[in-house]
Amino acid sequence: MGGHPTGGDNSIRPSGVKSILAVASGKGGVGKSTVSSNLAVALAKQGRKVGLLDADIYGPSQPRMMGVNKRPASPDGKIIEPLQAHGVTMMSIGLMLDPDKAVVWRGPMLMGALQQMMSQVRWGELDVLIVDMPPGTGDVQLTLCQRAAPTGALVVSTPQDVALLDARKALDMFNTLKTPVLGLIENMSTFHCPKCGHEAQIFGHGGVKDEAGRLGLPFLGALPIDLDTRLAGDDGTPIAAGDGPIAQAYAQLADRLIK
Ligand code: ADP
Repeated sequence: MGGHPTGGDNSIRPSGVKSILAVASGKGGVGKSTVSSNLAVALAKQGRKVGLLDADIYGPSQPRMMGVNKRPASPDGKIIEPLQAHGVTMMSIGLMLDPDKAVVWRGPMLMGALQQMMSQVRWGELDVLIVDMPPGTGDVQLTLCQRAAPTGALVVSTPQDVALLDARKALDMFNTLKTPVLGLIENMSTFHCPKCGHEAQIFGHGGVKDEAGRLGLPFLGALPIDLDTRLAGDDGTPIAAGDGPIAQAYAQLADRLIK
């Protein structure tokens, strides 16, 4: 063995992409897409060439969070031109489908869509491609890990036990698929009341750090429950595009991940 895997004979890894970071979670709704878009923007602000692929096929959030809703062009019907937003090159299955229609696909169709988004999109030269994965441990994760050989995975969880329980399964999957886990992120960690300053641990606190310690994995940081984070996401301009404390937290996370 030796050298970095390329995804094997039927690789779907885009050739101009230096590293691929998979952002995963066990459960939906824990902030995986929010972390993906903010991390992408934070890395782009530091001068990196960044791509963001929304592979959350059942619930693509990136068009909304990155503020894009144009259908990507494909002049020759084969190569798809990605879109640009906040300094990031992006593509989402949500841009190709009717946003009000449910995706009811079996495994082979899901894998076909992932393959198309990886290898038919003109990603160009990128320092890093961030892949916002679907929650859980299904076909898309399996295909991505086996055929795109991600450089590493980040696992996002809230500190709540039910979220951690599923996060452990995601970690086990990456282990089995030999995808290095770069670390764990605790999202929705605490809530500071903006009126009275009281700090509430709505989903608990510290559970992800403890879990990382138990598993011998890096703990990459905690992000609070924050109204502005939610509003910025809904508004299509990730909070990392600004310069407040949350933007600084994402800049630190970006620093830790890409040296
Ligand atoms: P996932 O990708 O894990 O399903 P999302 O990133 O879509 O989760 O987040 C679910 C919801 O929670 C979204 O409405 C998002 O704006 C909100 N959210 C995520 N992280 C935070 C946070 N730290 N503070 C406040 N709201 C958040």
